[in-house]
Amino acid sequence: MNNFAIVDQDSCIACGACNSEAPEIFDMDDNGIAGVIYEGDSNRGVTPIAEDLLEELQEAVENCPTNCIQLSATPFAS
Ligand code: SF4
Repeated sequence: MNNFAIVDQDSCIACGACNSEAPEIFDMDDNGIAGVIYEGDSNRGVTPIAEDLLEELQEAVENCPTNCIQLSATPFAS
């Protein structure tokens, strides 16, 4: 199950779609660049996303215009 997520912030165009789809998982910084904020993850990709949010997560991935949301079955970093 791909329940770890990060945003490749170099590719984010600050469109806000991920935050609209999954506000508990994604938020934008002062420049509008998105990151994973779920349970204080700070876009590290180390916090497993709860199962009941995975559908929203998938919607966000599919609606990101630059495909910069990355998913993994294991944590991205320690
Ligand atoms: S949907 Fe993609 S491009 Fe848009 S703000 Fe979110 S991560 Fe950035």
